[in-house]
Amino acid sequence: MVLQPEHDANDIAQAMRLTPRSDWVHYFIDIAKAVAARATCPRAFVGAILVKDNRILATGYNGSLPNQPHCIEKGCILNEEGRFCQRVIHAEANVLYQAAKFGIITAGATMYFWDSRNRGQPCGQCLPAITSAGIEKVINRDFDSVLPQVYHDNVTG
Ligand SMILES: [Zn+2]
Ligand SMILES: [Zn+2]
Repeated sequence: MVLQPEHDANDIAQAMRLTPRSDWVHYFIDIAKAVAARATCPRAFVGAILVKDNRILATGYNGSLPNQPHCIEKGCILNEEGRFCQRVIHAEANVLYQAAKFGIITAGATMYFWDSRNRGQPCGQCLPAITSAGIEKVINRDFDSVLPQVYHDNVTG
């Protein structure tokens, strides 16, 4: 599609597969999706960002440890059940680690995450970490918000 000057923001957003300028929630979910594109594991593309007062504090995607091989180059390392790739740190954990690394307060922040598998909430290992870090709200790509206290009841390991 070739964009002409007379096209409006909706056309541009459509061409970019982003949401037209509307509200903060769409804006942050689109950014989380862009972050997900950096994922290094082909099993899932997940991006997570931390936001407070409509400012982005940190970003994370599911990826290998620094300076370690990527799944997309060397293949995944699956757990015994074959369900989880152990080569990558999950996006939702990585964004918390990035904040810790740079001394950014996570208490009271909102986490927006975009998951290519369209999972409604982070996994059973990330959820307790999110809660412990004081994240007040988690919003998924369907714009659903789940409060952390709900997670305690849903954690299955
Ligand atoms: Zn992998
Ligand atoms: Zn996880």
